[in-house]
Amino acid sequence: MLVFEAKLEGTKQQYQSLDNAIRTARFVRNACLRYWMDNRDIGRYQLSAYCAVLAADENVPWVAKLNSMARQASAERAWSAIARFFENCKKNKPGKKGYPSFKKEQTHSSVEYKTSGWKLSIDRRHITFSDGFESGTFKLWGTRNLHFYQLKQFKRVRVVRRADGYYAQFCINQERVEKREPTGKTIGLDVGLNHFYTDSQGNTIENPRHLRKSEKSLKRLQRRFSQTNKGSKNRVKFRNKLARKHLKVSRQRKDFAVKTARCVVQSHDLVAYEDLQVGNMIRNRHLSKSISDAAWTQFRQWVEYFGKVFGVVTVAVPPQGTSQNCSNCGEVVKKSLSTRTHVCPDCGYTQDRDHNAARNILEIGLRTVGHTGTQAASGDIDLCLCGATPANKPSRRKRKPKE
Ligand SMILES: [Zn+2]
Repeated sequence: MLVFEAKLEGTKQQYQSLDNAIRTARFVRNACLRYWMDNRDIGRYQLSAYCAVLAADENVPWVAKLNSMARQASAERAWSAIARFFENCKKNKPGKKGYPSFKKEQTHSSVEYKTSGWKLSIDRRHITFSDGFESGTFKLWGTRNLHFYQLKQFKRVRVVRRADGYYAQFCINQERVEKREPTGKTIGLDVGLNHFYTDSQGNTIENPRHLRKSEKSLKRLQRRFSQTNKGSKNRVKFRNKLARKHLKVSRQRKDFAVKTARCVVQSHDLVAYEDLQVGNMIRNRHLSKSISDAAWTQFRQWVEYFGKVFGVVTVAVPPQGTSQNCSNCGEVVKKSLSTRTHVCPDCGYTQDRDHNAARNILEIGLRTVGHTGTQAASGDIDLCLCGATPANKPSRRKRKPKE
């Protein structure tokens, strides 16, 4: 699935219609959630059916205005929140299980259309929304050419409201596969606080300090915002400014993650990294800033995405012992977080702490990946090469080509 985004240009009135559609989508999601809370043993199909009940309800006339598939999509959203909660309970995930909650009115919000309720113009530079809210035709501002894809590949269109405007996201059903010559290189990555990562060759990538840099201006904005009076126009203005600033930082972070991940994946045949539970780490107050700043999770997702696109193996290895073991001889060398250099008393190998860890990660990655699912991994068969058929003996006649 490819996702393209374009900004929507329209009139104030049109934006208000989009607001109404977004609000209705939220209403349907919340109503479905309420329905589930009152009848706990229902499933996703009953939720879908409930959409039709809502649309026919005269007390909530606006629901029928929303495109029927968009209503369904909202019900699915409610269901996915419920399903996630069930999943967490089943797995007995530590901490909060994420009991589904009602969505409040907020700036960042969206409504999802599937294959109906919208139409692209012939030149594909405009989109028209045709459901009961009658938002009309918007000009699309984006860098992607939508002509490359057939209309039937457009599976979903999501209208997203952000602090700086309204966007259309097109989900296009297309497997993205790109050709790449094998490089013969493998790499292990160790994420650290001092650097964004250190690789198994000892190269380092610096942390993006977007958040730090923007922090000062964010703080100032925050202070100005808190000085404004509740309900005043000024407050609305500063809330929007603040939201735009956050938006900018998150875009910078994403940009960094995409570029770095693409670069790493394209120039290697295998990428190994630690399977870090960032969720647990962010709870630790001291680490949190750097980790969320460094955007590690996002980077990892993009590494895995590009791995699929370019046909590169990506392995997440368990983080246990990667920083303690000696990458030269395998001995355990205990060290605290403040010890920056790894010195092995056994073999004398001396290396930067993170570099040593990256070498271990690559080693574990290589050990894991070649053996999944093969019979030799179980260790209960003897490999005997002596009776094997010679390689040059043709085992089967060539099939005749069809005429
Ligand atoms: Zn050693």
